Amino acid sequence: MPLARQVVKDLAAEHGACLRPVQLRRTEIDTGHVEQVLIPCGHTLASVCPSCAERARILRAAQCREGWHLDREPVIDPDPATEEQRAVVTDRAEAQADRDALDGQGLDTGELDEAIGELDEQITDAGLRGTVLPAGPRRHRSTRRRQDTAPLPRRPVNSRTVGKTYTAPDGKTFRPSLFVTLTCPSYGRVGQDGAPADPDTYDYPRAARDTLHFAALFDRFIQNLRRFTGYDLQYFAAIEPQRRLAPHVHLALRGTISRAELREVIAATYHQVWWPSTQAVKYDGGHLPVWDERTGTYLDPDTGEVLPTWDQALDAIGDQDEPLHVARFGARFDAQGVLAGSKDASRCIGYLTKYLTKHLGDCHQAGSDAQAGHAARLADALRYEPCSPTCANWLRYAIQPKNARPGLRPGACKGKAHRREYLGYAGRRVLVSRKWSGKTLADHRADRRTWLTQALGIPATDPARYSWEPVKPGDPDHMPNGQRLLHVVADRIQWQTALDLARRRASEADFPATGRAA
Ligand SMILES: [Zn+2]
Ligand SMILES: [Zn+2]
Repeated sequence: MPLARQVVKDLAAEHGACLRPVQLRRTEIDTGHVEQVLIPCGHTLASVCPSCAERARILRAAQCREGWHLDREPVIDPDPATEEQRAVVTDRAEAQADRDALDGQGLDTGELDEAIGELDEQITDAGLRGTVLPAGPRRHRSTRRRQDTAPLPRRPVNSRTVGKTYTAPDGKTFRPSLFVTLTCPSYGRVGQDGAPADPDTYDYPRAARDTLHFAALFDRFIQNLRRFTGYDLQYFAAIEPQRRLAPHVHLALRGTISRAELREVIAATYHQVWWPSTQAVKYDGGHLPVWDERTGTYLDPDTGEVLPTWDQALDAIGDQDEPLHVARFGARFDAQGVLAGSKDASRCIGYLTKYLTKHLGDCHQAGSDAQAGHAARLADALRYEPCSPTCANWLRYAIQPKNARPGLRPGACKGKAHRREYLGYAGRRVLVSRKWSGKTLADHRADRRTWLTQALGIPATDPARYSWEPVKPGDPDHMPNGQRLLHVVADRIQWQTALDLARRRASEADFPATGRAA
């Protein structure tokens, strides 16, 4: 016999209801009337909540579709800051003042620095763009162009973001856009299954580094593309793994350029990583630097000598030194022209959003020993590769990571990039330029909601009329997850019936009583 609870879960998934609804208590401020409201968890991974992940994917597809073939410049007017946004920026201001006061007296600012980091995250979560402080001053770094790379013609970038329009002899106009796929270079021959023909010569260290710096390389590519084309080219991009577990990026680009030009930009694009050398492993196994509580630094376990700090290690990189790594794209790429509203456009949007509900490491399951071995070797290569200036792995090379703190151990860095499910890429999976659709994801979500409430004929509610609070497990009105699930399944079915009815009415309205189309 099927398990009753599993059937509820299956039904919930089938009807697109959230599997982990969050319970909120909603109080109407004027009347004091209390209602229980279940809201979707909003998770983007299908393994956690298939319904919410699918909704998030559809939202991304809508965002991609809306921006791809815009024929008018999007209007970007930021909304005024909300009460919540102003409050978190106020907290941030106070934390900064307290921190700087301590710093002025030569006292430890560690705790406040941590709090500031959390506040910065809250500021982003609250839907504010950018940061309150500019990034620290950039170090002077040799900006010599690499001699092994052809220079790229540069044009001044004007503020136009829409592509050119072409007119056919019959007067019809076209505004073509591009679908592009960029890949990493070859690290050694691989078979159809993505496993290397010769694992011993496959360049795992290079594969690991290219992945760690893939996001920076992509940024550089966009910058070069804009300078080359001379306009503020817009993109919607999704990062996905290939079978060989290297990342590649699918891009919807607004406007078009020729394959030859694209090839030129790809060949001229590189990202240099100016980090200290990792050639010599100084500490390994049980022989590791020790934390000195008194000075807050890492010391050599034998001599007690203080290890160079991150800043000192960077300062020691000379003008004649080579960068730790130069990331580039592979010469192989794919580009096709796509017209607005075409079948091709829908197919490409399908590609762009296909894997968004999965972790990178879960997109291709290892089905053979060769594939499993390949994944394990890549994970090994990523284990000791520094993922960022704060990575614990720097201790292995006798350098104190930036913001060093006790308990750091090489090979045990908590950075996402080292985790198997990320395959070395810890960045955002969807990269959208600011003037893509002229809307934020929240705007696109609001569009859907408006459409829905209008279709169902629900009057708009004024959010200012209510106060909201989370319902905690100990509260008398708390519903256990099973009960919440039953409610959302019932709601969802009712809601779908209402939507079907509304749709039927709308289509009947198109056909007047005579039965002929209007
Ligand atoms: Zn959910
Ligand atoms: Zn790390």
